[in-house]
This record gives sequence, structure tokens and C-alpha cells, in this order.
Amino acid sequence: MSVEDSTKDVVRLVDVRKDYGETAALDGVSLGIRAGEAVAVMGPSGCGKSTLLNMIAGLDRPTSGSVVVHGEDVGGLSEKGLALYRRRRIGMVFQFFNLIDDLSALDNVALSAQLTGTPARQARRRALELLDELGIAGRRNAYPARLSGGERQRVAVARALMNRPALLLADEPTGALDSRSGEQVMDLLLDLNQIGQTLLMVTHDERLAQRCAGRIVEMSDGRVAAEHTLERTA
Ligand code: ADP
Ligand code: MG
Repeated sequence: MSVEDSTKDVVRLVDVRKDYGETAALDGVSLGIRAGEAVAVMGPSGCGKSTLLNMIAGLDRPTSGSVVVHGEDVGGLSEKGLALYRRRRIGMVFQFFNLIDDLSALDNVALSAQLTGTPARQARRRALELLDELGIAGRRNAYPARLSGGERQRVAVARALMNRPALLLADEPTGALDSRSGEQVMDLLLDLNQIGQTLLMVTHDERLAQRCAGRIVEMSDGRVAAEHTLERTA
């Protein structure tokens, strides 16, 4: 790939290594993701998928190698710089939703914009718009305990989109859902990608990956073992 092409990458990892004590969670991963792509990471438990996402999310730093996202060298940021990077550039969705139990759906979504300094009223207005786009505005006043798994994940996706992230990361977003809700969440991610959202997700479900991703990256023992470009089936 030419230098010109690689500057258009939203994500560029070069020879990234992450050691946890004796364990090499990532053992030399190089990967580029272009704006507008949807990429699914697959591979057995423990092969380094979450570590890969966490490096890109700025939740942890590589032992060596470089992680550049949207032109920022994530490994070189200070703690404060990393916190800003996470809030402004990245949206992240987790398997178990990670919503705040004592905030309503609307407030869970609005909070992430308030943390970046958006006034509360404006944050709530945008949160409501997003809940509406994601088809759950009717549940805005419900607390997480009263939401179904699929509804919780849609709230979590809305929260992840609040700050218009350059990159949406999803770590097994359907892993805790029944197959129907899982399909709905994947369809939602697919819709977002089709309107231009760059997406990197981890999933165990080959069928959902094929439906939603344009490329599958297969990992094994901390390395990229294979990559396939797909014709989407959706
Ligand atoms: P996956 O998401 O593919 O299941 P992970 O990225 O979670 O894999 O883990 C990769 C390897 O790194 C595993 O051997 C795991 O035990 C280890 N690991 C991950 N995070 C940590 C951590 N914070 N401390 C120690 N070991 C870790
Ligand atoms: Mg994992």
C-alpha cells in the first residue's frame, strides 16, 4: 500500500506487541482500516481480540509497535490526552453493555456528551435524537434493569455514537443476546456502517460477521492468521 493510501486509514497498527507478564497477548499485529470499512475480528478465546480493541481504544498501551488512529499516535499520548482521545474519537460497545444502573436510558446516553463539556440540555436533545434513530426513544425513561438485552445494547450503541466517533469499536456486542436480538443489533451496526460509520467489531458468530462486515480478520495466538474480503450477504 502506498504512503498516500495509508494516510486515509482511520486505524493503522504496525507490529504491535502487548505483553502481560509472560503472556504475549499481541505478538506483532499490523492492520489498517480505511474510513467507512466494517471489519470483523474472529478467533478463539484468548487469542488477543479484546487486547487489540483495547489498544485501539486507548484503554491500554502497547508494549511496542505503533497504534495510529485518525492521525493520532495513541501510544504517545499522555494520560490526559488518552482520556480526551477516548471520549472524542472512539465509541465503544461491550458484551455486557456497561450501562449505569441508576441512570435512565436517556441519561446514560447524554452523560457521554456532558463529559466532553456539552451543556446538559443540548446533550439530552442529541441523546433523544439518537434513541429515536435507533428505535428506542419510547424507552428513554426506563432504567437498564427494565430494558431487555437488545434494548440495553441499543442504548449502549447510542451512547457510543454521542460524540460522533471516527471509529466505533464493538467487543462481542451480541455475545450476551439471544439470536434474534443479536441479529437486530448486528443489523443496526450494518445500517450505521452503510451511512459511513467506520466499524471494528469482535464476534464469534461467523454468520453475523459475514452479514455485517466487508472484511474478516482471523486471529490466532496474538497474530493475524488470515484476512478475507467479503461480499456482504445482507
Ligand atoms: P480474547 O478477547 O481473544 O479472548 P484477550 O485479548 O482477552 O483474548 O486475551 C489475550 C491473552 O492475554 C489471554 O491469554 C489473556 O489471559 C491475556 N490477558 C488479557 N488481558 C490481560 C490482563 N489485563 N492481564 C493479564 N493477562 C491478560
Ligand atoms: Mg475478548
